[in-house]
Amino acid sequence: MTDPARAVSPLLPEPLTEADRDFPPVVTKYYKTLDGKRIECTLCPARCRVADRERGTCGVRENRDGVYYTLVHSRVCSAHVDPIEKKPFFHFLPGTTAFSLATPGCNMACTFCQNWEISQFRPEQIDCRRLPPAQAAAAAKRWGCPTVTFTYTEPVVFTEYLLDAAAAARGAGLKAVSVTNGWIEKEPLHDWLQVLDAVKVDLKAFTQRFYDEMTGGRLIDVLDTLVRVRKAGVWLEIVTLLIPTLNDSEKEAASLARWVMKNLGPEVPLHFTRFHPQYRLRNLPATPVATMERARAAALATGLKFVYLGNIPGHPGENTACPKCGKVILKRYAMSLTENHIVGGVCEYCKTKIPGVWA
Ligand code: SF4
Repeated sequence: MTDPARAVSPLLPEPLTEADRDFPPVVTKYYKTLDGKRIECTLCPARCRVADRERGTCGVRENRDGVYYTLVHSRVCSAHVDPIEKKPFFHFLPGTTAFSLATPGCNMACTFCQNWEISQFRPEQIDCRRLPPAQAAAAAKRWGCPTVTFTYTEPVVFTEYLLDAAAAARGAGLKAVSVTNGWIEKEPLHDWLQVLDAVKVDLKAFTQRFYDEMTGGRLIDVLDTLVRVRKAGVWLEIVTLLIPTLNDSEKEAASLARWVMKNLGPEVPLHFTRFHPQYRLRNLPATPVATMERARAAALATGLKFVYLGNIPGHPGENTACPKCGKVILKRYAMSLTENHIVGGVCEYCKTKIPGVWA
């Protein structure tokens, strides 16, 4: 069965006409001019140096005569209405839906990518539709979604579209959030944080060795992004996919959680999600539930208040317990919210304030 994120959605407004297929490129501000029409991309820490008529490694940004363009503004390859819990955001408008958008491309090349059929190809290799920012916001409203989400592939590489579509969403009275690997330079991140209400960062592991061998990114840059998002006061949640033998030791989970506790504080939700064999890691088994539970226990022992388990439907680690009275205040099954006992941002039972965005 085709994963819905990989198929052009029936929600997108109309099939492309031949004229639409041009997708006129948009000049980006995230680059520096070098000698001989070469440029250096300053959007992400990969800092690609790109010759005339060439593209950066993400494949969606092109140098034409010394001017750098994005090829994916409004060029949407996936659009769906998802529960916000699917992102996952557990402390952001629980029980609501998110109008979820992606363009092709990614600045990492994770061996375990769930959406490699849209993240690892060039835009002209994928069936895309044109969805300008105002239309994206209008579609979200039409489908009853209070939030527009940038997700599935890597929003860093379609930053210009994210900025315009998030601004349009806000202008229409909606919220805008991004699901990202967090591998972004400071200036574009600063721009993101002016228009986003929440960011979920995939912290792929807590060792540079894993980043080197499995992703092509750099841990230190992602940690820097986490600190900047938190400092900006934009709602932040973190997800780590635990992959057997590669990043699932109790020791690594504890180190990661200690870093979160020390640098971001106890209130940032940390999700450990369960790996299932896919893409280039089909040789590995699904993560044992006992391993997931050990990681969660190790993270909770550091003092973090909200540590969740994902991809284990029906597990109590999906629920939110009040850190004071211990009662379950948000109950979930898989990606759905089944009970909500937070009223006006506080626990219904003991009135403790619960961190998050609730209205
Ligand atoms: S955004 Fe793309 S082109 Fe720019 S530095 Fe990153 S990978 Fe290279």
